[in-house]
This record gives sequence, C-alpha cells and structure tokens, in this order.
Amino acid sequence: MRVTIWGCRGSVPTPGPETITYGGNTSCVEVSLDDGTILVLDAGTGIRALGFDLLDRGMRKIHLCLTHLHLAHHEGLRFFAQLWDERVELDIWGPPSQELSLGERIARAFSPPLFPVDLRDVPAVVTFHDVPRGPWTIDRASLSAQFVVHPGPTVGYRIETKSSSFAYIPDHEPALAGAIAGRSTDWVSGASLASGVDALIHDAQYFEDEYEERIGWGHSSVADAVAFTRAVGAGRLVLFHHEPRHSDVLLEQLEDRARELARGNGGHSPTLAREGMVVELP
Ligand SMILES: [Zn+2]
Ligand SMILES: [Zn+2]
Repeated sequence: MRVTIWGCRGSVPTPGPETITYGGNTSCVEVSLDDGTILVLDAGTGIRALGFDLLDRGMRKIHLCLTHLHLAHHEGLRFFAQLWDERVELDIWGPPSQELSLGERIARAFSPPLFPVDLRDVPAVVTFHDVPRGPWTIDRASLSAQFVVHPGPTVGYRIETKSSSFAYIPDHEPALAGAIAGRSTDWVSGASLASGVDALIHDAQYFEDEYEERIGWGHSSVADAVAFTRAVGAGRLVLFHHEPRHSDVLLEQLEDRARELARGNGGHSPTLAREGMVVELP
C-alpha cells in the first residue's frame, strides 16, 4: 500500500511563499495498491494535480471516497481531469444523509451560477454509493467507514490489505466528549477505525491554546491528535488538515510539540503531512 499526499490544508487553499514546504492545496490523499487499485480520499484542490498524474499513468478506474461534503473536501472535483474523459469509470463513495442523496449534494457544486456544466453532463461514467454500515471490499482492499464527531454527516475510513492497515480521519474532534486519555475506547469517536493501524492520517489543526478558543468547531489540537493515536494504538501519526493561518514555520513548531507529547509512545515520531509525501506500508 502506497499513500501519497496531494493536499493537506484545512478549510481553504493557501498558496504563497509561506506555505511552500507543506503546501496550500486542500485535502486529497491517494492510496494505491499493488494490484493497481486506486482509492482517492477526498477531492480538495490537491486532486487536480493527482488527475494529471493518473492520466500519465493511464488509470481509468478510480474510487473516490469522500469523508463529508464541506466544500474544501470536494471543491477540486470539478477540475479532476478524469471527470472529463468518457473512458473513465469513477465510483464516488460518501456518507449518507437523510435529506439529499450523495449525488444530489455533490451536484449543487456543478450548477449555475457556481459552475457552467451540470454533473449529469460530465463525460465520465460516475456512480454514487452511500458507504455501507459494515466493512466492504474494493478489489483486494477491505474498507470500513464510520461516522465521527464533526459538523454534518462525516465519516473516517479504514483501509486494510493482507499485510497493512491505514486510517484517514482528516476532520475530527474526538475530545468534544471530554478528555481522550483514560476513557474506554468504546466511547472515543473514530477509535475502531484507527485501532492498531500501521499509519494514521489525523486532524491536528490547532496548537493547544488555539483549540481552547475553538472548541466545537470540529477539529483537533495537536495534543488530542497525539492522545487519540496513543489511545487507539496506531503506529505512525501523520498530522493533517493544517490550519490556513499556519505558515511552514508555525507548522514545524506544531510538529515539535507533537513529538514532545508523543515521547514515550514508542514507535514513530509524528510527522507533518506535506504535499508530495509518500508513506509506504508493507
Ligand atoms: Zn476539512
Ligand atoms: Zn469539515
């Protein structure tokens, strides 16, 4: 399993000289498997560059797994080259909602005056799926999705092969229910998704003092990201969903803080997600 980060910024794209190292594109992560399966997690603006790369690789069967419908997680879809190629089959998975189907919710971003082309008229063969309640398989990968604490219907994903496991929970505030440490993981949002995984991409948007001012906004402090990783026994923590106001310099301070907090956890030190970063799992 090979995990590639194409966008790791939270909320809004932040191009500019202060974000060059870690990148300004919003959430998009590619998981490619040895059998050629391509799973794309979220469709923030990072998906645009991924689309061109997939074209170069001749990939025409793609699964896109959306965590939720906040715009920063699907704003890049309109500019995903595969959508404009009639040879492409694109399966889009996402959380169910009682109000509108997944396709209807995404179609809002494909209608005037926001966008000139209706979703029904894109050339690719697009199929929408609500994520199942239980585990399901895509080719040789086993997936599970579960609702997590974040405003609006939001899921995280766990992806497993015979030899490795990975979880992606980019927007998540498990501390909203109280301190994570010392609580049974039965009562920690997202715990079963991330339990014992080799690598975890998790929301770490804020420094601890910033979080105190933003409780209930749906995101985690660096301390809560580390506490969650420890509670679920995950291996490597990748700090994700970078706060738009955080420059590269501030992000490195956040990484230092994560490493300080994780000391004694054993295993890998936490690492900042960075555009272009590749995590190879056995
Ligand atoms: Zn987000
Ligand atoms: Zn969100």
